[in-house]
Amino acid sequence: MFSDLVEQLHAREQKGLRRVRQIIDSPQATHIAIDGRDYLAFSSNDYLGLANHPELVQAACEGAQLYGIGAGASHLINGHSAAHHAVEEAVAAFTSFPRALLFSTGYMANIGIVTALTGREDAIFADKLNHASLNDAALLSRARFIRYPHLDLVTLERRLAETPARRKLVISDAMFSMEGDVAPIAELIALCERHQAWLLLDDAHGFGVLGQQGRGSLNAAQHDPVRSPHVIYMATLGKAAGVFGAFVAAQPEIIETLIQSARSYIYTTATPSLLSHALLTSLRLIEQDQWRRDALMQNITWLQQATHNLPWKLLPSTTPIQPLLIGDSTEAVRISLALRERGILVPAIRPPTVPQGTARLRISLSATHQQQDMVRLTEALNELA
Ligand SMILES: *Cc1c(COP(=O)(O)O)cnc(C)c1O
Repeated sequence: MFSDLVEQLHAREQKGLRRVRQIIDSPQATHIAIDGRDYLAFSSNDYLGLANHPELVQAACEGAQLYGIGAGASHLINGHSAAHHAVEEAVAAFTSFPRALLFSTGYMANIGIVTALTGREDAIFADKLNHASLNDAALLSRARFIRYPHLDLVTLERRLAETPARRKLVISDAMFSMEGDVAPIAELIALCERHQAWLLLDDAHGFGVLGQQGRGSLNAAQHDPVRSPHVIYMATLGKAAGVFGAFVAAQPEIIETLIQSARSYIYTTATPSLLSHALLTSLRLIEQDQWRRDALMQNITWLQQATHNLPWKLLPSTTPIQPLLIGDSTEAVRISLALRERGILVPAIRPPTVPQGTARLRISLSATHQQQDMVRLTEALNELA
């Protein structure tokens, strides 16, 4: 039994696909410590620089004093605290939805939402480049699973029209994590309305970053939840929000259905209330610190201009995920390693995560990257070019 596993692991190693974890000895930030060395990191989802914000640290300590550490029970038994409830009310108001529900993680939220709303008689339509958690959720639901080419709404519409099903659910990332591009949200909503389909939008990367005061991709697309009640909005709280967890916002009937039957909500211990207490502070900072989004946008624009003369091109992204297209996998890995030797962390993303021949460096920007950080990255890239 072991030799089987060893063989598999060996094959993975041979293909250069074995992944290793780096042990980080500092908080998440633009500068992190690994093995006693300081690295400039362009590799986290801490887009607003909140993951190590002193006010959040303070709020987490205060939350521990108010609620202790462990929630001790699931939400439906005895684990649903005033802090959890306050976050649900705050994110519902912030995203202009009537109701919201907290999940422990984004992965669990997607599993719970999709399996609670669809079953064998239903059909799910999903963008090819959706996050893995959405695909896993679709498979677990046992609904018919139809994937359409990335952003191809013509194919999506045809499949919607020709597929008989009790319920139809369209699923899309709002902002795609490997491309940095944004789904055509208004068109997706109109299409779902025409075909009486639900639309689940995963805004893990847009919440806090896009829209007015960081209200997310739906707000950026000027969507009004009152006008289109079939939209189910999901976002995570461990990326731009800098804490942990996820939420789904939707009409009350949807939220009540999830409370009653989302298994990844029901059969798990509630997350520590101290995190929810910290989230209340995070939501306030997201809303009030417009300068963070301004600084982030400045970094994005600056990078686009400063990489103009490189032999490699940035993919057309206006978001903090700025993929630099290298093409060849070994080349992408070589550049990533050479940057690392210079103390700069930028991950190489290779097939099968992205299509063949499109290996890339995924540069993730943060509001807290300073001008000298940006210069250091682009100088190193120029040198390597
Ligand atoms: C990160 C991510 C998730 C998972 O969220 P976690 O809270 O980290 O489990 C889900 N969907 C997308 C698009 C993501 O990027």
